[in-house]
Amino acid sequence: MIRKKTTTPRCRLLAAALLASSLPLAGAAPQPAQEAPWCDRLATRLPNISAAECRQSALAPSGVKSHRGFPILERDIAPAKADAPRVLLLGGIHGDELTASALVFEWLKQMDTPAAQAMHWKVAPLLNPDGLLAARPQRVNARGVDLNRNFPTPGWQQEAPRYWAKVTRSDPRRYPGKKPLSEPESRWINDTIERFRPDLIVSVHAPFGVLDFDGHIDPPSKFGRLVYRSVGVYPGSLGNYSGRHKQVPVITIELPHALAMPPDAEVRRIWHDMLQWIGRNL
Ligand SMILES: [Zn+2]
Repeated sequence: MIRKKTTTPRCRLLAAALLASSLPLAGAAPQPAQEAPWCDRLATRLPNISAAECRQSALAPSGVKSHRGFPILERDIAPAKADAPRVLLLGGIHGDELTASALVFEWLKQMDTPAAQAMHWKVAPLLNPDGLLAARPQRVNARGVDLNRNFPTPGWQQEAPRYWAKVTRSDPRRYPGKKPLSEPESRWINDTIERFRPDLIVSVHAPFGVLDFDGHIDPPSKFGRLVYRSVGVYPGSLGNYSGRHKQVPVITIELPHALAMPPDAEVRRIWHDMLQWIGRNL
């Protein structure tokens, strides 16, 4: 701290230099939010993520809340380069896939590497906080809607309810809602796609242990141990809506377990392979 009485022109220069050197570089991690009261609750639920790590992740409320009032948390990490590929990284659209949210928290720790800083990231690790934090974690949101069936794919009004009734036999875990974008959580995703204009969406799920892809370019073949395999096209899914209808490709990462994290080395390998694929293809 420089006291006022010693502030000479030279001191002011020194102070300015110190201030400049302490300012975050573009893309560098912002200072951890000391408050972030949501982190204590999340740490009790997410595998391998402590409240301190949650605070370090420097997520901030997006301004939109879940049906029960939990903030949809986000972080924007912009590189110095203006034309960097824009990647929207999403986790936990299904609240009972705990590893999907935890994996995105793990990857938030890697954002200061040069490979990650070649991209402009918008990151939201838990898109269904009410499902995640329910007494027993649940796939659907607080209103019983499968958010990943609530996107406005063409013909939704006819197809989504019919698919739910006929194919899923009215499975309550796959209820698509009364109309597309009926839920605050799915509306936030849709609005973020409109505003952020990603070149790629990565959505993390579990527990099928594969990579899926919807889009107009060749799919990735392998990230870590996860191998490409299409898990199907559903009315109202994000992959169908964005990858096929809006021409913004969607990589769906399906971790092999919903409750137990992959080993750290595998978490790093998937991340590394994904960054390489993005670098080559976007
Ligand atoms: Zn899922």
